[in-house]
Amino acid sequence: MNKIEHIGIAVKDLEVSNTLFASLFGKPHYKVEEVPSEGVKTSFFKTGPNKIELLQATNPTSSIAKFIAKKGEGIHHIAFAVTDIKAEISRLKKEGFTVLNETPKKGADNKWVAFLHPKTTNGVLIELCQEITASEK
Ligand code: ZN
Repeated sequence: MNKIEHIGIAVKDLEVSNTLFASLFGKPHYKVEEVPSEGVKTSFFKTGPNKIELLQATNPTSSIAKFIAKKGEGIHHIAFAVTDIKAEISRLKKEGFTVLNETPKKGADNKWVAFLHPKTTNGVLIELCQEITASEK
């Protein structure tokens, strides 16, 4: 696993939170992207070398809607960049972690992603992500 790629924050209202985080960071988000397969709308901010992803549910069965209903708004996941997501999934499975996506799926911001169940990671939802290359698009 490499560096932290981004931190995901679950929010109720993306527009309200975009304004809030823009004043916090002193600059606006650089991108908004909807991921219909996940039932989420996301926005991204850069703070120095760091990236923050805000996630709003677009339907009531979205994992973000369930998360907010259970825990309220707040930090939802930590994403780590990996060089070879498939190799990392097999390695982590062998180590005993519960991988929620056996096959990487397309996430926001041009990434292959896979999640680890928080029950095997001390309550922290972990996302693995690998840049989608031009030939894979
Ligand atoms: Zn993420």
